[in-house]
Amino acid sequence: MVEATVGDIGAVTSKSEPLVETKRSALFAAARAAMKHAYAPYSGYPVGAALLDEQGRIFTGVNVENASYGLTICAERVALGAAVAAGARRLRAIAIASARPPAPVPCGACRQALAEFADADMPVYVLPPKGRARQFALGDLLPHGFRLRSPGRWPASKEKFE
Ligand SMILES: [Zn+2]
Repeated sequence: MVEATVGDIGAVTSKSEPLVETKRSALFAAARAAMKHAYAPYSGYPVGAALLDEQGRIFTGVNVENASYGLTICAERVALGAAVAAGARRLRAIAIASARPPAPVPCGACRQALAEFADADMPVYVLPPKGRARQFALGDLLPHGFRLRSPGRWPASKEKFE
């Protein structure tokens, strides 16, 4: 696995595409800001996620826990739902922040959900409560993920349903 360490504000040590480069700081800030609205009364583990789409838009989500536990949804999939609902069909990066350890590396379900709309090299930035951000490639977090379509073939940004 290739894992690059990136500075929170400083230069990234791995090559990313220009869109991600210019939006990275805003993405990190959005994830941290969203985290403050997490609903995590049971775990006490608040998470905020911020997704960047191919238009440069940023969508956020938080974990939303539930008394039944099993209905809890992760911040990454809440952000994904917001992005898709706004018409996003291709994602370029995600940042995930938590105020408490451990570092909020996405769970398996979220990795598969993100892979529906992302290339294997999409940066996944994990922002721990203290210390430096870590960068992973989605494909390293989800090797051999399930796909029905060929890599590089993307759904239309706007399907016609009317
Ligand atoms: Zn998850």
